[in-house]
Amino acid sequence: MSKLVMIPGPTPVVDSIRVEMGREIQAFGDPNFVKDYKEVIDNLGKLYGCDGKTFVVAGTGTLAMEMSIANSTKKGDNVLIVSHGFFGDRFIDICQRKGLNVDVLAAEWGKTVSLSEIEAKLKEKSYAAITVTHVDTSTGVAADVAAIGEILKKFPDTLYIVDGVCSTAGHYENLKEQNIDILFTGTQKAFGVCPGLLMLWANQKAMDRRASLGTIPEYYVDFDKWVPTMDDPAKYFATPAINLVWALKESVRIIEAEGGLKVRFERHLKNARAVQKALISLGFKILAEDGCRAVTLTNAIYPDGIDDLAFRKALIAEGIIVAPGLGAYAGKLFRLGHMGNITTNDEVAALSTIERALMSVGKLDKPGVGVGTYLAEMAK
Ligand code: PMP
Repeated sequence: MSKLVMIPGPTPVVDSIRVEMGREIQAFGDPNFVKDYKEVIDNLGKLYGCDGKTFVVAGTGTLAMEMSIANSTKKGDNVLIVSHGFFGDRFIDICQRKGLNVDVLAAEWGKTVSLSEIEAKLKEKSYAAITVTHVDTSTGVAADVAAIGEILKKFPDTLYIVDGVCSTAGHYENLKEQNIDILFTGTQKAFGVCPGLLMLWANQKAMDRRASLGTIPEYYVDFDKWVPTMDDPAKYFATPAINLVWALKESVRIIEAEGGLKVRFERHLKNARAVQKALISLGFKILAEDGCRAVTLTNAIYPDGIDDLAFRKALIAEGIIVAPGLGAYAGKLFRLGHMGNITTNDEVAALSTIERALMSVGKLDKPGVGVGTYLAEMAK
């Protein structure tokens, strides 16, 4: 029996996207593929309000993190990292390896770094860049990316880098409207495509910064290497992941057909709040505080007396896979992804499976509470 993958990425892939991945290969110089690749790049640029360059490159979110830093900083620069968990912290290692001076503002897991702390820190010294993880997958905390963008208007020499790996195409994002200089993501989360491509948007200010750096030590992630291909995909730099580009093109078509990013965010918001309310009705606590909860995933802390491994094993036996907790929360919570092209039916199935697993470990007497809560919320 195939399992429903409800981890926070990779997310389920709908049939029309799967078909694109199964197509017979074409040469990367084939005019049909070149046209498709160009269309994806241009549409993504428009969708995200990017006045600079949009990059669609083979690789994962971590490579995009490295790409953002490589093209915006040089050894010895100051960088401010705002961390709401494991993936925020990942930037520390990436930046230290590059010889950057790193300052970190980290929140207790489940909470956010306050806007006033961020502003105060930016006043202390001149930072080449600030990194903010929009949704940290380890905590399910969503940062107020737009409000931080407003603050950054007072610090025009600092590039604003947003990690959108667990938010982009779920949460609303727009470079121009939110004053973001670099945004990036991977295909495997809210775009609902298999893992393997990164998308990175760099506005004109970020491209000017890249130009000011001259030759950089990195090769594959150098904007300058990719710009000719992004402008004209008939030009070779490194072999494009052809079928994934087609799959992404279909994903972008689905987003546009849904009504665009704002409508997609509203759907994610409504569904997420219903899922979260249902989980609370079943006795779980949500790690992220009310007010900073992601709409793309939920990190649900177990009620007392539930063994994480036994619970997740019971879920797998019933056909649904969720992800374990990270860091200090390993064994204490599970992470449920609800982003991309998943449906209300998938969420009902997940909640009903969670109820059956709770009953199997003796932690639920009356079935239907969670599903009922969810359906009532969705009906509002
Ligand atoms: N940033 C965030 C917020 C993530 O959730 C992840 C992956 N879960 C990454 C970065 C790293 O992405 P990847 O695993 O695709 O390299």
